[in-house]
Amino acid sequence: MKELIYINNKRPTNQNKRPVRDYNYRPARNNYNYPPANINSYNQVRRTAPYRQFGKRPKNYIKYVSRFLLFLVFTVIIFAVFAGLFFLNLTKKTPPPDFIYAIETVIYAGGGETSKTINITMPHETGFANNVHYFPINQIMDFLDFNLAGDTSEPSFIRKSPNEDIKLEIGSNIVYINGAKNHLTAPSFIADNNIYVPLDFILTSFNNIKLKDVNILAAERNDDQPELYFKINAIAALSPIDESTPENALFLALHGSDSVNFRADLSAYEQYFNPPQEQANEYIKLINQTNHLDAEYFPPDLTVLIDTRGDREPNQARLYAAKAAEAMLIEARMHGHTNISITSGYRSYATQISIFNHNVAQLMNNGASLEEATAQTALAIAYPGQSEHQSGLAIDMHSNTAATRTFGSQPDGIWLAENAHHFGFIVRYPDGKTHITGIQYEPWHFRYVGRFHAIQIYQRGLTLEEYHEQVLR
Ligand code: ZN
Repeated sequence: MKELIYINNKRPTNQNKRPVRDYNYRPARNNYNYPPANINSYNQVRRTAPYRQFGKRPKNYIKYVSRFLLFLVFTVIIFAVFAGLFFLNLTKKTPPPDFIYAIETVIYAGGGETSKTINITMPHETGFANNVHYFPINQIMDFLDFNLAGDTSEPSFIRKSPNEDIKLEIGSNIVYINGAKNHLTAPSFIADNNIYVPLDFILTSFNNIKLKDVNILAAERNDDQPELYFKINAIAALSPIDESTPENALFLALHGSDSVNFRADLSAYEQYFNPPQEQANEYIKLINQTNHLDAEYFPPDLTVLIDTRGDREPNQARLYAAKAAEAMLIEARMHGHTNISITSGYRSYATQISIFNHNVAQLMNNGASLEEATAQTALAIAYPGQSEHQSGLAIDMHSNTAATRTFGSQPDGIWLAENAHHFGFIVRYPDGKTHITGIQYEPWHFRYVGRFHAIQIYQRGLTLEEYHEQVLR
């Protein structure tokens, strides 16, 4: 019972010797007649629909691979676009909050107290970087009237009023507050022309300052434990003062320029370094043994000298002299001369009489005759009417317990002598000029004449007598 099945109505031949693999071949199930037992080659069996022809199978494979690759490329492109949008969106996402500082200070002065407040907003990116928190200390310093002084090894913050200064010992955690030693939580240091001071600096160093509603704490805790430092970007303020050349000094003298380079911001005082033109003669007036002031003379605009030594009644001087002295001692403190105070200012005619008579009486008690006592007293204390102190233009200042000539060779006295002219003052009774002035060397006695004249007197090395004689005549 052999039966040949001819598909495609063709007889099987043996012409195709090479067997072609028939991918379509599958043994039919439950068909015991298939495959026929006598088929000698697969390709003798050809099937029509529903089977497909698979002769082109290798070509289709390439097509699928290329389609798949194309699909892959599109997927990657779409993914990239979405990823880009996503990241764009991320960066746009709510920026970190700005730092806001509300600072309140309470200032105690004249028995009362006044409070000042300031709000400082700082963008987050400038307030926080590289795990360092940057505090807007420069603005706070301005607000508190503090100036940066000293040098890079020991920067100081000095307030424009006596007895407020803060000195940092760079590289250590030591800070001196009004001379008292305190410790910060971490050492201060200098890098990239900035001073870095630990956060607690402002809290421990500045009296009467409250930080309130400061939103930095929340922001801090989102970052992993940053070191908290103030960054004080003011190294420039620490560079040495430009000493005027003689040419500069003359220019300043002639033009009354405000270009003297002070460490302190003395812009508010600049107006007092030269008296008004219409009063110029009063301020340059020569007062000595031969040029007396009337017993009735009373300076018109006496002003309290705020740097009067603590144990004395507040001294006074004429407005311009008083303000210029104030500025001079601010600047002196910026240079480390923090102990100079004013011991004497305006003295009335009556005061002069009693001082003079008191001194004469003391010498007579020690055995001197009236003539001797009077002559000796006159060397140290001017006769009533002959004292500059009656003019309100003379100010005694030093840092010793009593006025002594050694002050002239001490750092404080040297600084005053070398810088007083910038503020309109001269050393009125210089060493070696007693034969001209009639008064012994007094390194503590400063006379206000205004910067215009003071600079010329300083540059020429003259006494006021010589200046009148040689220059003003
Ligand atoms: Zn004096």
